[in-house]
Amino acid sequence: MSLTLTVDGERWRTHLRALTERTPGLVPVAKGNGYGFGLGRLARKTQWLRDQGLGADTLAVGTYHELAEVASRFTGDLLVLTPWRPFGAALDVDPALAGRVIHTVSRPEDLAALLTHDPGARYVLELVTSMLRHGMTPRGLRSLGGLTDRGRLEGVALHLPLAQGSHLSQVQRLLTDVVAAGLPTRTIWVSHLTPEELERLRASYADFEIRPRIGTDLWLGDRQALTVTATVLDVHAVERGDVFGYRSRTAPKSGHLLVVSGGTAHGIGLEAPTGDQSLKSRAATLARGGLDAVGFVRSPYSIDGKQRLFAEPPHMQASMLFLPSGARVPSVGDEIEVRVRYTATTFDRVVVA
Ligand SMILES: *Cc1c(COP(=O)(O)O)cnc(C)c1O
Repeated sequence: MSLTLTVDGERWRTHLRALTERTPGLVPVAKGNGYGFGLGRLARKTQWLRDQGLGADTLAVGTYHELAEVASRFTGDLLVLTPWRPFGAALDVDPALAGRVIHTVSRPEDLAALLTHDPGARYVLELVTSMLRHGMTPRGLRSLGGLTDRGRLEGVALHLPLAQGSHLSQVQRLLTDVVAAGLPTRTIWVSHLTPEELERLRASYADFEIRPRIGTDLWLGDRQALTVTATVLDVHAVERGDVFGYRSRTAPKSGHLLVVSGGTAHGIGLEAPTGDQSLKSRAATLARGGLDAVGFVRSPYSIDGKQRLFAEPPHMQASMLFLPSGARVPSVGDEIEVRVRYTATTFDRVVVA
């Protein structure tokens, strides 16, 4: 009855271990929907890596709100990726956790405010990159003066865009700024560098400790270990002209309507995240008198390896698919495959098999 993520546990764990082993200083990232697995499970898995002596001494979360969900399942340090601000949830950190939390400070004025709020605060200084999301400029960094001798400076953080060519020249420029600012740290927290880039960075900055923050490539790095399925909840035979759905549409030809689990509340969107959406392929479909010519849209559900069309936009917890006659009709209770964006999907069940 559910949208289910099934994990091949042995294969997943092998991948987690292997990536952690070949990535010194790795900082697992658990944020948002926990990359589909849930934050609690990722915190437990990070603890599991740590217990095997593989490092993983720090877990990164996205927001202050997420701390509570991981803090009881992982015993190490907790890096908060959203920059500290002198308002909101950043001011309400549970005092019992304060010693484990590492704040991200992205504006010079926030460092003074953080240290006033918590004189012993642990923090990293974020530098602005070509992402232009958060971070200090080199001038902002130099303006900090003696402030960085207070509290516990744990390093400098760089958030790089997803790889488009090499990031190395940008990182080298930023590290030059770090050295020029005379900061009393040699730890650099980075994102989105390839293994080769990390290798080269370590070689050219041997006196720096590099801490790669990785979410997607860690948790979702072996897609073969993951299967997403939905349950067929109902099957209705229809003839051309039969009325169905919230909008009382009519079936364009005979076939079957399938009601399957998964809807907008799960993050099931109107179109599949990938697939051939080129003009050429659409034109070809139109020429064949394909069903998207009558307004049916491609769904992320597939049956017997073929991607199927929505009969109408997804409902809140179920979706209606149209199966033209000729195709094999699954039975109520069957599982069919779904392609989803893991970071945007709420599963009813996660089964680690
Ligand atoms: C989400 C995030 C990461 C991890 O990104 P992935 O692409 O999932 O590996 C690293 N650093 C920051 C600041 C982030 O917000």
